[in-house]
Amino acid sequence: MKKHLRLLLFLQLTVLFVSAQDSSKVVRKGFIPKDKLFELLYVPFDVPAGTTEIRVKERYDKMKVNVLNMGIYDANGYQDAAGFRGWSGGAKKEFFIAEASASTGYIAGNINAGTWNILVYPSTIAPEGLSWTLEITLVPGKQQKIVEGKPAAVQLNTIAGWYRGDLHMHTLHSDGRRTTDELVAEAKAKKLDYIISTEHNTNAANLNWGRYDSKDLLIINGEEVTSTRYGHWNAIGLDAKTVVDWRYKPEDGIIGKYVGRVHQDGGLAIINHPFYDKGDKTFKFDEKEFDGIEIWNGEWNVLNALALKWWDESLRKGVKKIAIGASDTHIASGSPNNLGRPQTVVFAKGLSKNAILEGIKKGRVYIAAGDSVSLQLTVNSAGKTYGIGDQLPKNTAADVHLTVKGCKNTVLMVIGDKGLISSHQLADDVQTIDMKVKPGSSSYIRVEVRKADQTMVALTNPVWL
Ligand SMILES: [Zn+2]
Ligand SMILES: [Zn+2]
Repeated sequence: MKKHLRLLLFLQLTVLFVSAQDSSKVVRKGFIPKDKLFELLYVPFDVPAGTTEIRVKERYDKMKVNVLNMGIYDANGYQDAAGFRGWSGGAKKEFFIAEASASTGYIAGNINAGTWNILVYPSTIAPEGLSWTLEITLVPGKQQKIVEGKPAAVQLNTIAGWYRGDLHMHTLHSDGRRTTDELVAEAKAKKLDYIISTEHNTNAANLNWGRYDSKDLLIINGEEVTSTRYGHWNAIGLDAKTVVDWRYKPEDGIIGKYVGRVHQDGGLAIINHPFYDKGDKTFKFDEKEFDGIEIWNGEWNVLNALALKWWDESLRKGVKKIAIGASDTHIASGSPNNLGRPQTVVFAKGLSKNAILEGIKKGRVYIAAGDSVSLQLTVNSAGKTYGIGDQLPKNTAADVHLTVKGCKNTVLMVIGDKGLISSHQLADDVQTIDMKVKPGSSSYIRVEVRKADQTMVALTNPVWL
């Protein structure tokens, strides 16, 4: 009898032991009617202590028409970014988070016990609505060592000069199709001095850029703060652990708080592709809050021309917003958005995060279609030399000197606050132009270089007169 009891106890313990090691599954289902497009839905589930991995599978009907975006918040809550553990938008249908590793776009680390929330929202929806299922697997196990990420080095040198870079790109950490290895290899092959990582709504990539630290490529953290409904903007120059929230509307009037969060890290907020869609202005937040505008996204096209026109109109009103250009690259090649086309060339006191951001903030920036294009614009006035982004003393004569390389068979235009000041045919590969601007005739000059078909080759920010 005693022997039997012992055997029974042993068997019971074995069963308990086995079930403690077994994963448990939680299934949540729902239906979203068409009139709930863009509405955020938080799906809570409990995570018991001892869980070391969470796997999530998302399924919904008409996956070719419907898009159900997805991300996750841990037991620290979803009210702000404190509980943020990853975002994949519409790019993934499943992901995992474990203590030592996670899917791209998601953040490994402590699986805290308590209520977690999966955030879903539809960005396109069929007329008959959308039925969804979330299958959540909770895996218990032995606690693993939490490995801290290694963010990128923030300073490579203190040599002042013009540095070429790309301010907008995606990898597998959001909806890009290449790995971080592939992106870095391509940036080096294209001889870029710096790149800014800007995944949609996640800082997962930023936590580990340090593995690519080298002497010749600076990697700066950023995020493309992405609201499908109200527009995209780049937060550039973030600390690796910062994630900037995107869950608010223009009418909430709180965009300034989030731009302020970027400034707090020493970063800048740039409006991205403001005319992204079919030529309508898709950016709905208050422009006043932003430092700059991406007026050149990928290959030059009609939407870029609209963004340029918008920027030019605001310049004429005296609004100083920095114009930048970037590729918005998602795939390796053969796309209008190839890495390094265009590139933003910045005068910086060194190749460091702070110096590059300071250069951009001061408008010491021009945009070039590629690495073969370079442009020097200096203005002499009252015995001093000024450059792009500088302010001359008011009402002084301006002797303008331009040197342009790699712009054969193009037209260079000097433009002021009343439009075209002068235009110059560039027949040679290297060309210099000297001209004078009368005191008081314009509050700034800026330069555009275009091909005969109006395609942009280079474009500067203003020198303020
Ligand atoms: Zn975008
Ligand atoms: Zn983008």
